[in-house]
Amino acid sequence: MSTQNPVFIPGPTNIPDRLRYAMNAQTRDHRAPDFVETLLPILEDTKDVFGTKDGTIITFPSSGTGGWEAAITNTLSPGDAVLVARYGMFSHRWIDMCERHGLDVRVIDCSWGAGAPADKFEEALKSDSLGSIKAVLVTHNETATGVRSDIGAIRRAMDAADHDAMLFIDCVSSLGSMPFEMDAWGVDIAISGSQKGFMLYTGMAILAASPKALAAMDAAELPRTFFDFRDMMGANAKGGYPYTPPLQLIYGLRESLDMIAEEGLQNVYDRHTRLADGVRSAVAAWGLELVAESPDLYSDTVSAIYVPVGFDANELINHAFDSYGVSFGAGLGQMDGKAFRIGHLGMLTDVMVLSGLATIEMAMADLDYPITLGAGVAAAQEHFRKSSTTSLAKAA
Ligand SMILES: *Cc1c(COP(=O)(O)O)cnc(C)c1O
Repeated sequence: MSTQNPVFIPGPTNIPDRLRYAMNAQTRDHRAPDFVETLLPILEDTKDVFGTKDGTIITFPSSGTGGWEAAITNTLSPGDAVLVARYGMFSHRWIDMCERHGLDVRVIDCSWGAGAPADKFEEALKSDSLGSIKAVLVTHNETATGVRSDIGAIRRAMDAADHDAMLFIDCVSSLGSMPFEMDAWGVDIAISGSQKGFMLYTGMAILAASPKALAAMDAAELPRTFFDFRDMMGANAKGGYPYTPPLQLIYGLRESLDMIAEEGLQNVYDRHTRLADGVRSAVAAWGLELVAESPDLYSDTVSAIYVPVGFDANELINHAFDSYGVSFGAGLGQMDGKAFRIGHLGMLTDVMVLSGLATIEMAMADLDYPITLGAGVAAAQEHFRKSSTTSLAKAA
């Protein structure tokens, strides 16, 4: 198996050489006076990617899951109600975490393939006349099903219900790849991580918190120490960290922000749309179905694809790995065996995407799927030829 092959899992993503070099850094003293010059501009520049001016950026040495834990423990107390919809493995895991923290979790179950139901949120908030619901939790991009939800619609539903709950968004697999507008959508905490749109090693949770979320900190009674926003913000204000910072990831984030700014955020988003459209045209040419129920829900960072009845998606991705040395995403939870996923986020080019489509096509042909070898690749080639842009050249 060659490590030159890209991965087609929806995170961690392929790491551009430029970022690998940036993270290959010798130890520096994080208590030296010059560390402040490194850290503070990074926290400031990260705001652009979240679409916030009012928010505060808070990082932790952790994967994205720790970011969830930080969000709830810093703002909520045992017994507080939270409203959340379950429509995939990541929204499910967030629900599980809230339950284990002793929150009163009001779950709206949706089909896997649907998005967050703004109308049902509005109904639930309208009937919460006592204001028990303290936060609404939404997974922006459900990585298990390839579904992107409309966060603006959730905000409008909350406003229509005239409800004061905070809005927490998991944007781990969307931030830096698809548009995210923290301020415009009235998001109170947005949670991401280093290993997806930022294209870095795993190991840093990256959050943005609104003034309203920060105002809830002192009254929040859920226990936290390592993840206490107040310790982190207090240390950050002096250009430091309350404990040893993940220095190499911080260097990597500096370089990642520079890469994203050089390409231009809008160009990054457009590139993801274009590549995703290429993948989707291949899926259509294979005659297969996406898990996402309608085009308005299609994710530009990951496609979850049903295999035909009678086939096993796990066998398919294991075969692609064993025979061709290329990884694709497995079906998670309810999708286990029924669907596989193609991750198309981070630093990808047309050429990389075509190689992934060609590989999974070979694996499908080997396993006697009812597809025509080359059909998906040809459809994507046509799409890429017609939509070729200069943003890729800039990105390289
Ligand atoms: C990757 C991901 C996470 C976080 O996972 P970690 O493995 O803890 O970094 C959370 N939510 C979504 C939607 C994700 O895609």
